[in-house]
Amino acid sequence: MFDKILIANRGEIALRVIRACREMGIQSVAVHSTADADAMHVRMADELICIGPPSGAQSYLSIPAIISACEISGAQAIHPGYGFLSENANFVQIVEDHGITFIGPSAEHIRQMGDKITAKDTAKALGIPCVPGSDGGVPDVETAKKVAADMGYPVIIKATAGGGGRGMKVAETAADLVQAFQTARSESKAAFGNDEVYMEKYLQKPRHIEIQVFGDGQGGGVHLGERDCSLQRRHQKVFEEAPGPSITAEERARIGEICANAIGKMGYSGAGTVEFLYEDGEFYFIEMNTRLQVEHPVTEAIFGQDLVREQILVASGQKLSFSQDDLQINGHAIEVRINAEKLPNFSPCPGKITAFHAPGGLGVRMDSALYDGYSIPPYYDSLIGKLIVHGRDRDEALARLSRSLGELIVDGVDTTVPLFHALLQEKDVQTGDYNIHWLEKWLDANL
Ligand code: ADP
Repeated sequence: MFDKILIANRGEIALRVIRACREMGIQSVAVHSTADADAMHVRMADELICIGPPSGAQSYLSIPAIISACEISGAQAIHPGYGFLSENANFVQIVEDHGITFIGPSAEHIRQMGDKITAKDTAKALGIPCVPGSDGGVPDVETAKKVAADMGYPVIIKATAGGGGRGMKVAETAADLVQAFQTARSESKAAFGNDEVYMEKYLQKPRHIEIQVFGDGQGGGVHLGERDCSLQRRHQKVFEEAPGPSITAEERARIGEICANAIGKMGYSGAGTVEFLYEDGEFYFIEMNTRLQVEHPVTEAIFGQDLVREQILVASGQKLSFSQDDLQINGHAIEVRINAEKLPNFSPCPGKITAFHAPGGLGVRMDSALYDGYSIPPYYDSLIGKLIVHGRDRDEALARLSRSLGELIVDGVDTTVPLFHALLQEKDVQTGDYNIHWLEKWLDANL
């Protein structure tokens, strides 16, 4: 087992990894930008190294700075968290070339799943059902028109290099297509430096269902059921739950087995998430994330497993501590993402926290790097905490969510907490009757 792990991240996820390290008796090294000198992950880690100025590009995304920090501290492995360098195959290659272990899959697997066209081809070849769409990239408007006419409208144009909901445009009819195609391309170019796009049938009322998988790197794979992340704003998740309210045990076993077998066949190592849209009893693959997800705690809650610990075990060459048969679902868990944002426009709201109190009690977990007097810097994303609740069933989880949101105090900045108070009053949220378009419609009507 490793003696020391460097965490190439910040915020709540850096704390999450430090906690797992500490329970495993592993020393942790925090890296930070000058803007994060007072951050909680820096205070909590065993060692700290400043790696650059505030901008992400010069600090948390700086490969030379992170490799140097690793060499100086003598850390044997790097945990990338999510975002930043977590799905950067080039980074993983460099890490390995320096004789350091990357806590995650191989560069090759990241590359395969990072490009969404290759990911879909790989998924298809592994027997995973995909959203109907173009055969690879769509080079020009004329081809786009042909593909759309064959598939039928509406269609969605998506960036091959996409992520974070960017570079995606819907064309409802042929009249919208030219504009949608060109916008998707220019957004992709601006966001990812790559203007290749592909097309899919735009599903009308799907749910976003994702399967948590773990590969042992030796040809074995297990699944930890699904998460329903259908409540989204601008294709970004805000509320996630497990198990999915619409998924039966039979469906879970069927799609879970397909995914577990697929990553086994790939020889995949570590945590991954296979994302699907789910409509009328059918699953359609959209992408695979080759890292730990923001919403992993809902899965941890219902299975009673520590996913970061398992990532570290597998990366160090040890076996997963569970087999498929050991994994039994216990109750229901919900996570809400608390962002420092001002409603109704969700504009970022960095600033000084004048009071912070985290909720507690049975079945409540708050993953946050906030503390009294902390100043949220303006340079990074606006997630400041995740509130995760666990109950014996969905109703109990909802009651616990309402109760714990009421206990949470974050003074000094605006947050998305009022959104969740309002959503909990909605019948559809109470019954779990929503799809990926529900929240956008609700926001239009209510905010
Ligand atoms: P990203 O990597 O940018 O997050 P995804 O491919 O994971 O992009 O899609 C994000 C979200 O966009 C999905 O959860 C869903 O809400 C929506 N979406 C993507 N593809 C489709 C589709 N074919 N039909 C309808 N909605 C889609």
